Amino acid sequence: MNEVPVRRSVPSEESTRHFDPILRPELHELYTARAARLRELAAGHELEAYLLLAADVAQAQAQAQATVSPESRSNAVAVDPVEIARQGTWVTHLDTMLDQLIPGASPAITPHLDALRAMSNQARLDAGLALAQHQFHSVSQALAPFLWAAFSLDVALAARTVPLPVASGEESPSCPVCSSAPVASLIYKGTRQGLRYLHCSLCESQWHMVRAKCTNCADAGDLDYLSFDSTEAVVRAESCGHCHSYLKVISQEREPNAESVADDLATLVLDDAASAEGYGRTGLNPFALPDQAL
Ligand SMILES: [Zn+2]
Ligand SMILES: [Zn+2]
Repeated sequence: MNEVPVRRSVPSEESTRHFDPILRPELHELYTARAARLRELAAGHELEAYLLLAADVAQAQAQAQATVSPESRSNAVAVDPVEIARQGTWVTHLDTMLDQLIPGASPAITPHLDALRAMSNQARLDAGLALAQHQFHSVSQALAPFLWAAFSLDVALAARTVPLPVASGEESPSCPVCSSAPVASLIYKGTRQGLRYLHCSLCESQWHMVRAKCTNCADAGDLDYLSFDSTEAVVRAESCGHCHSYLKVISQEREPNAESVADDLATLVLDDAASAEGYGRTGLNPFALPDQAL
């Protein structure tokens, strides 16, 4: 008797493994790893000075984070970046960070740090609110990364105290915790080997998304991967012919120290190549904020 072949859909490895839909990396560890990776990438890079400055800012975030007492944390049930910008507790982080940054600052950066120090509380709050609302054109580009770093730290702290949002079953193009845009997506190493998470540009949370589908429109039919060195590159731009957008994919499998913000910032030339091919960037990097509203 002939056996009748049974057609089974074979579940992919990813769908059979347990994974956390949302991760909230420990902030001190995250900022410290980011600073170290930025310093590593800076050596011989054409943006060396800027990558080193970004490393100092990430280190200052780590130090400011360490000074926050657990009792001062809010008991909000959800993260509302605009409300956090308005409340203004983030301004304290800015002052702590300036204390760290000013003594070792280069002559090119000192005037910007002095300008931040001299800003009135109201001017700081107005700038923070503009950043929270993505009104990037109304904040000085030289000051925006520092303001964003302090504001982002406050949002990240809030994101670590709220209950996790209930998984909707849908993989969102924006952060399920604070609704902000991703920096990039990260392919994990170690116990989460091969899983992909998008990293939030504001609250530093990460959310899972299956690989090989567009992070913006979920289409899987017309993806392409742009990179400079080889198909094994650590950083590739995943572009979608359906919605004409792209987001970088950063692989820790290929480079264990790879970190979303650092590796994205060190590969801005890849953005030029992707935009030359007609793709729009959906990612947002805290150290390369756009000069106009998104
Ligand atoms: Zn977020
Ligand atoms: Zn798409």
